[in-house]
Amino acid sequence: MVFKMRTERIVRPDADTAAEDEVTLKTLRPHTLTEFIGQEAVKEKLRIYVQAAQGRDEPLDHVLLHSPPGLGKTTLAQIIATEMGVGIRISSGPAIEKAGDLAAILTNLRPRDIFFIDEIHRLRRPVEEILYPAMEDYKIDIILGEGPNAQSLRIDLPPFTLIGATTRAGLISAPLRDRFEVSFRLNFYSVDELQAIIVRGGKLLGVEVTAAGARELAARARGTPRIAGRLLRRARDYAQVRGEGKIDRDTARAALGMLEIDEFGLTLLDRAVLTAIIDKFNGGPVGVDTLAAALSEERDTLTDLVEPYLLQVGFIKRTPQGRVATERAYTHLNRSSGKLI
Ligand code: ADP
Repeated sequence: MVFKMRTERIVRPDADTAAEDEVTLKTLRPHTLTEFIGQEAVKEKLRIYVQAAQGRDEPLDHVLLHSPPGLGKTTLAQIIATEMGVGIRISSGPAIEKAGDLAAILTNLRPRDIFFIDEIHRLRRPVEEILYPAMEDYKIDIILGEGPNAQSLRIDLPPFTLIGATTRAGLISAPLRDRFEVSFRLNFYSVDELQAIIVRGGKLLGVEVTAAGARELAARARGTPRIAGRLLRRARDYAQVRGEGKIDRDTARAALGMLEIDEFGLTLLDRAVLTAIIDKFNGGPVGVDTLAAALSEERDTLTDLVEPYLLQVGFIKRTPQGRVATERAYTHLNRSSGKLI
């Protein structure tokens, strides 16, 4: 049981990070656009926008970043701040409870600073409404007092940049979405890119990783840098205790085997989802709520974390009636679909 919980934490890119990992996480985080591997189209546009804004001495336009968890949204926001040479204030949708909390943050920004809101789709409505004039005109209206004596006070804000991050672009209200001038979707990373991220990470952590070892870890990182970093750290532990301190292909394979991650990078949870679609729902279609109930899992875990990757590797398809397992999934799990005969 203890082992299973550990496995789940490592393979879930959204899971909280234990304190002991904080230092290595900071070490691994890229600080400049050049250090940030992959997402070439996004980087190229950002370089231009950053340089243009700097040339005009203006804040960068508001940016919306959208991707599954662990693909680099927070990292990119911090890099943008570094490249712009400005400060960054980090918060998240659920953390900003009242309109006053947001007003306090906004009024304390310095000119051109970046305000980063993670999980922006979870902002409360009254808080979100304060953001509209703040984003558009750098102004907020605060209501002082209650009832007939209430007074509206208009406050000027320093010009700032809002960077919003979301795993669920579809849940952002149209008025908020329309106020972002720039919107980027980050894609899953290729195995080559993840390999480069792991090789770079190995250097920063001071552990020798062979090309084949890095490739093995990269192929099973679910297209996600955060998972690549975690697999690297677990392989480093394994190499230190059971091997000779070097992460070669065999050490990587042994460490991954211990984590029960298969050759597609599928975790126990991914496989449980596929197995449920195939065995309990006859291959689908099955709705996400039914699936979540059958697995005793949170709906959001399935939609944010499991589905995007299973869709990406072609193990499930989305249909109007629900999720369907593909022939590839049957083959991978050694099941017969009965559709071949
Ligand atoms: P998100 O905000 O999308 O959930 P993060 O920005 O927190 O993702 O990134 C997760 C981890 O992955 C970070 O610790 C960072 O070190 C690493 N990472 C993300 N993108 C890259 C990249 N392109 N190159 C190298 N490391 C990356």
